[in-house]
Amino acid sequence: MPIDHHNPDLSSRLQKVIQRVKDAEQHFGRPPGSVLVLPVSKTRSAGEIKQVADAGFTAFGESYLQEAEKKISELASLGLQWHFIGPVQSNKTQQIARLFDWIHSIDREKIARRLDDQRPKELPPLNVCIQVNISEEVSKSGVSPDAVDELAVRICELPRLQLRGIMAIPAPAHDLEQQRQVFREVHTLYSKLQARLGSKAPNMDTLSMGMSADLEAAIAEGSTLVRIGTAIFGPRT
Ligand SMILES: *Cc1c(COP(=O)(O)O)cnc(C)c1O
Repeated sequence: MPIDHHNPDLSSRLQKVIQRVKDAEQHFGRPPGSVLVLPVSKTRSAGEIKQVADAGFTAFGESYLQEAEKKISELASLGLQWHFIGPVQSNKTQQIARLFDWIHSIDREKIARRLDDQRPKELPPLNVCIQVNISEEVSKSGVSPDAVDELAVRICELPRLQLRGIMAIPAPAHDLEQQRQVFREVHTLYSKLQARLGSKAPNMDTLSMGMSADLEAAIAEGSTLVRIGTAIFGPRT
């Protein structure tokens, strides 16, 4: 493993993020500890990840398979949990099903079926979230809000996948109110889905929304998991 020297900036950014999440939980009446911080370590070194892991974080988000593979193997002795949060290409599903514990970005039945087929039998079912294209941006990944229910029902039929919730990346908005409005729509969609699936999806507990620039708005609207890159690791080059 490359030995990076302890980076004091990383430690202080991490403390700031922890404080932002605590403050938001308190301010918006969320129970303390109800929001999980998932550090997003794409483009970051194994040494930087180790420093964050040493501070007590056990799960990390990655977006690119090739890059993640190397770090996952370098850090294997730490027993970390890995979340795939990038677009899933069908020629990558085999590796993804083997290396990751969670996938936040399912948006097609075909991908779900491949992951179900390819999840190794000796591993527990893969935890998955459906990515919703909530702002209905043409260029973005994610299923349209109208199609979430149908995809969710299909996923519930797959024994090697466990539906945990939904994920969204709204278009950038400029103030807290505007950010909250979109996250509120995601929350509504999530609650309706939970009600509709009931016991078919007994482990639906995850609303994956909020990043460095909008975590407060996401927490205000019920996020249970914020995916934080820049605010922890610094700007990506
Ligand atoms: C990169 C990335 C993040 C983290 O974004 P920041 O703005 O750096 O916090 C979160 N979610 C996804 C899906 C990402 O690709």
